[in-house]
Amino acid sequence: MVAKGDMFYAWTTNKELADKAECGGAVTGLLKFALENKMVDAVLAVKKGQDLYDAVPTVITDPRNLINTAGSLHCGTLLVSKIVKNYLDGAKDKKIGLTVKGCDLMGVLELAKRGGINLNNILLIGVNCGGSVSPIMARKMIKEKFGVDPDTVHKEEIDKGQFIIEYEGGHKGISMDELEDAGYGRRSNCRRCKYKIPRQADLACGNWGVIGDKAGKATFVEVCSEKGADLLSKAVAAGALATEAPNPKGVEIRGKTENAMFKLGDKWRKRDFSKLGTSVWDTINKETSRCIKCYSCIINCPVCFISDELKKGSLMVKEGEVPPNPMFHLRRFAHISDTCVNCGQCEELCPMDIPLALFSHAIRVEEDNAFKSKLGTPAYKN
Ligand code: FAD
Ligand code: SF4
Ligand code: SF4
Repeated sequence: MVAKGDMFYAWTTNKELADKAECGGAVTGLLKFALENKMVDAVLAVKKGQDLYDAVPTVITDPRNLINTAGSLHCGTLLVSKIVKNYLDGAKDKKIGLTVKGCDLMGVLELAKRGGINLNNILLIGVNCGGSVSPIMARKMIKEKFGVDPDTVHKEEIDKGQFIIEYEGGHKGISMDELEDAGYGRRSNCRRCKYKIPRQADLACGNWGVIGDKAGKATFVEVCSEKGADLLSKAVAAGALATEAPNPKGVEIRGKTENAMFKLGDKWRKRDFSKLGTSVWDTINKETSRCIKCYSCIINCPVCFISDELKKGSLMVKEGEVPPNPMFHLRRFAHISDTCVNCGQCEELCPMDIPLALFSHAIRVEEDNAFKSKLGTPAYKN
């Protein structure tokens, strides 16, 4: 009997899947089982596109195709929440299985609160997340710091604090701390992120805490809901997945690693927020003065929406004005000040390289601190 709160080492019994998967293949094995047994109508996951810097969201209805989504793409910086709302009708009538990092999950939950996603029809398989590297940064870092042609790299991974590549000439790893101190490494929002184990999903899966003979061969699974418990117990009963109790030492290591990541997140928050200087609005006005009003930061934000009416202009922001009146940005920051999930999409996809996520995250954290005493700590530490 599997229950909420249980933890397991889990692995797929499908050899082909095990070979392709990142760890034990539990994530893909569970999604495959759910699809085969009509627990979901479709799965939205991520597969490799042109190369390993190209993470492509994909909707799968034939369980045999799920193998294409096995494996972790650390240069996959996409967010799936708005895809569910915009292209899968918010799971209104269909049951969807989703792989989610912490930021994907927070985006899904925020959209569900606004009625844009029907959570009852969503199966959430969470993956722990230490951070992702933007594809442009990854190519630059591999060329400049690793001295390797990025096109010759066929595998990348983040393990034990190192960014590791396998390429035509062998393999190389450099510590993330060293890379980040030199201005390379994870996206800035990821450095500040503190949602490492997505416990609001149905299951939270990762590699932290898998030690001994199962290291690299099993996935650490924490059961976070009744729905997750039901899926895992049925998959094990049917022989699709095998499990064993986790090594207690591994559980301890997992806890310590999560705590170390919280501290690292706090360190980066302190460092990044202090860059804003004493006159935050001057910094924001200066940076946003190169805005070309393309709306990418709004279109890609999981918590921000704009009506067509407003696009045509308003009292505060006139149509056809470039750069837009500062109110264009201030209104947006105010709109998301208590809901920004620090997913980084605004900054990642801004064609003018404006550090938007830094601004909205700093505002969100300040809002949280201001109201903390009354409302308590939010359910997720973003
Ligand atoms: P698989 O069966 O191989 O399935 C992997 C699933 O992840 C697939 O559904 C695939 O579509 C999806 N996926 C791949 N890339 C992405 C992406 N960029 N965004 C969203 N979904 C994606 N675990 C830890 O314990 N500690 C970490 O620090 C950590 N960092 C991670 C960082 C990233 C960016 C990602 C994507 C994963 C990270 N993980 C981390 C999770 C770990 O890599 C494995 O995904 C997890 O252990 C499940 O292993 P598996 O063999 O069961 O997964
Ligand atoms: Fe992972 Fe957090 Fe970055 Fe999302 S914002 S990719 S959950 S570290
Ligand atoms: Fe302006 Fe950048 Fe937003 Fe486009 S994405 S509207 S350029 S801030």
